Amino acid sequence: MSEPSKGEKVFRGIAVSAGVCRGKILVMHRARHFISHREIEEKDIAPEIKRFEQSLAQTRKQISDVQHKVIQSMGVKEGDIFDAHLLMLEDRVLVDEVLKLIREKKANAEFAFHTVAERYIDALAGVDDDYLRERAADMHDLTARVLDNLLEVKDSFDLRHISEPCILIGHDLSPSVTAQLNKKFVLGFATDIGGQTSHTAILARSLDIPAVVGVQNISEELETGDYALLDGYNGLVIVNPTDKTLFEYGQLEKNRASLEEKLSEIKTQPAVTLDGKLIVLSANIEDQNDIEPVKSHGAEGVGLFRTEFLFINRESLPTEEEQYEVYKQVAAALNPNPVIIRTLDLGGDKFASHLQLAQEMNPFLGWRAIRFCLAQPELFRAQLRAILRASVEGKVKMMYPMISGLDELKQANAMVEKCKAELRAEKIPFNEEMKIGAMIEIPSAALIADTLAKHVKFFSIGTNDLIQYTLAADRTNEKVSHLYEPTHPAIIRLIKATVDAAHRNGIWAGVCGEIAGDPVLAPLLIGLGVDELSAAPPVVPEVKYIIRRLKLNEAQALAEFALNCDSPSEIYSRCQEVARAAAPSLFEKS
Ligand code: PEP
Ligand code: MG
Repeated sequence: MSEPSKGEKVFRGIAVSAGVCRGKILVMHRARHFISHREIEEKDIAPEIKRFEQSLAQTRKQISDVQHKVIQSMGVKEGDIFDAHLLMLEDRVLVDEVLKLIREKKANAEFAFHTVAERYIDALAGVDDDYLRERAADMHDLTARVLDNLLEVKDSFDLRHISEPCILIGHDLSPSVTAQLNKKFVLGFATDIGGQTSHTAILARSLDIPAVVGVQNISEELETGDYALLDGYNGLVIVNPTDKTLFEYGQLEKNRASLEEKLSEIKTQPAVTLDGKLIVLSANIEDQNDIEPVKSHGAEGVGLFRTEFLFINRESLPTEEEQYEVYKQVAAALNPNPVIIRTLDLGGDKFASHLQLAQEMNPFLGWRAIRFCLAQPELFRAQLRAILRASVEGKVKMMYPMISGLDELKQANAMVEKCKAELRAEKIPFNEEMKIGAMIEIPSAALIADTLAKHVKFFSIGTNDLIQYTLAADRTNEKVSHLYEPTHPAIIRLIKATVDAAHRNGIWAGVCGEIAGDPVLAPLLIGLGVDELSAAPPVVPEVKYIIRRLKLNEAQALAEFALNCDSPSEIYSRCQEVARAAAPSLFEKS
């Protein structure tokens, strides 16, 4: 036995994307401004004032450029938002106060500006008036921009600069940053905050990058250059792993390799239980780059195409034509398998920076998804037309996210009818019979599923949101992750009610939330009568494996038990027992 290496340290968090990786750590520090207070000399006053004025001019130019782009892509009204920023920059009182501090107190420019700006922000934030409070947020943005220019700080951490393999550690990673990760260099990542079904975690699974979130203050404790092993099965980051630890993980990888072989043998086989119940097993995708993984992991088409990733990490909105090209490419490549395109679900934890939307107190309860689209008819129209046009290129279906009631559903359907009429008049082909569904991810929708079912052709249950909205537990917040329980009786009953309502009305119901990709929970969903499961491509083989080793009556007995049990942990334990009995080799890895 070799000596344990000095200083093995284990950090525990929430495992969100399976796999093990090891390598050097790269810590992404939050962009901060360090404002030092220097007393400048008399002779430096004029150059300091010049430096300050230059930073204002630079900021003005940057804001005008952004404003110009927004006006072009979204219209004058949206561009007007930046007038408030520009007006603040012109505010003579503010500028004079800064100049006074530089001249009379001989303060350096960043200290002078920061001092005055903070006073303004505090004053605005403390006023009992929504409009003025929003101006405080504007002032905050503006201050950061001016300080960036004064201190010559580049925009936030740029992941494109990573040029050697590493494990990324950060306080948080936004979904838009995660979507840009280069698998070649980012072996895995861990963050201080985050939850199991945050979109960052979902993307990590899609990208097949091991990830752990909610590791408290790991970004403060680790340093760039430290060596670590990240275990995405058990939610561990092990710094300076001992030889013993490395050996154990070597064994785990061997087990994994033999399981991979078994999984690849069933790739082209159907997802059918031992007693012949066929389950539609499809994949969740974010863009056209996911076509290959859908095929290579043996999914039957796409159960959820999260189109919002076409809208983020770019400077303007994608046009109808651009969207059409992408939808067409995916539909044609996967034909004759279906592709369910979900209309835009921006908001919550996914934002398009170029849309410059006002910050909300509760973004998950705010202007998100279908609410946002119905209020932005031009944006919605472009997407609906693009989807309809792509519907002749393959088996395209469409669904709306975040339906909370019948009116929203009717409004969305009316928009589709309007787009169809336009296309007919323009003689542009589309599939008149394209099936439209609703996501059921708000408790109100689950409770009126009978009503909604009469207006759609299918349901897709979005359990990621259904759980957070039912249990009032933010899906991105590690502090309430213990309350975010997929096996809570309330969730099981809502799923059952939705599935039963769908079947009573002659339509099918699937699940496209993350639990559909969990081999422990898939049997329960099948027992509850779910017709389709849609999961990230890399987890599809495991779900297929367990389905093929399961009997429908065992799954139904599990569902019966769950529907009559009051304890989430007991239900989960029973799910584990059933899953382990059906497919023990799936669980040897961890
Ligand atoms: C869900 O809420 O379960 C879902 C699939 O949608 P998203 O994760 O994109 O919110
Ligand atoms: Mg959702």
